[in-house]
Amino acid sequence: MRNVVLSIDNREVEKYMLDMHVHSNYSSDGTASLEEMIKAAVSRGLKYISFAEHYDYDYVKNNLKVQLTDISAYFNEITLLAEKYADKIKVVKSIELGYESGEFVENEYNRVMKKYPFDCILNSAHIANKVDCWKQEFYVNKSRETAYTQYFTSVLNSINCNYSFDIITHLGIPARYAPYKNNKIIYADWKDILDEILKAVIAKGKTLEINTSAGKAKSEFLPDTDILKRYKELGGEKITFSSDAHGTSRIAEKYREVCQAVSELGFKYFVVYIDRKEKFIKI
Ligand SMILES: [Zn+2]
Ligand SMILES: [Zn+2]
Repeated sequence: MRNVVLSIDNREVEKYMLDMHVHSNYSSDGTASLEEMIKAAVSRGLKYISFAEHYDYDYVKNNLKVQLTDISAYFNEITLLAEKYADKIKVVKSIELGYESGEFVENEYNRVMKKYPFDCILNSAHIANKVDCWKQEFYVNKSRETAYTQYFTSVLNSINCNYSFDIITHLGIPARYAPYKNNKIIYADWKDILDEILKAVIAKGKTLEINTSAGKAKSEFLPDTDILKRYKELGGEKITFSSDAHGTSRIAEKYREVCQAVSELGFKYFVVYIDRKEKFIKI
């Protein structure tokens, strides 16, 4: 895609293909190296890629087995690669923090943020009631209402956490994994709590991620268009595009589909981050 500079609302706004949320094998579930991911992104025409490696200190707290990203090694390598590919693509160093309340987790996140100058902080509710909603045990002997309410409550709490962040990720992630027949999350079923979440995102000036890793969610992306429509109605403007790719094949997956869907809803920009500062990219 051509790199076009436009002047809109007195802001210099660029237009290019981006992906705000991918993982390399610095994340324990990533399958490709940083450089393999960057090369694939360049070959697909992206001009911006944000690595959001996993850092789930809430798992540590709850004794769920997961390897934390070695942030020091990640920073060393990505800094070199960002320079190496600077004329082809903007490579940024972000982190995906797993949310849980309480000082144990919050202190650690504040510590790593102070130590490492991330470009962007992604705030992710993966677990609710101490179980990862990726696991089937989260749903056992639980109604859909109970499981989803527990998850949405965790998201709402994550927006009010005691560390700074930029993006709320994959809203509605249990729909990827839940065993219920009607696992799809639609706005009409969760109006009250979704309104609370969306209003909190807007009030705090955060960005809502559109995540195309939808799995079995019966949606093309999370959150689906009915929820994005409500976000817009409530005054939400800040959205971003994320594939949540854990390997090269899914980078920027469904980029054009998302651009079309959000344009129809009236969104004009994706937000990206560099040095924790927002940049608006024309859709
Ligand atoms: Zn995640
Ligand atoms: Zn992720």
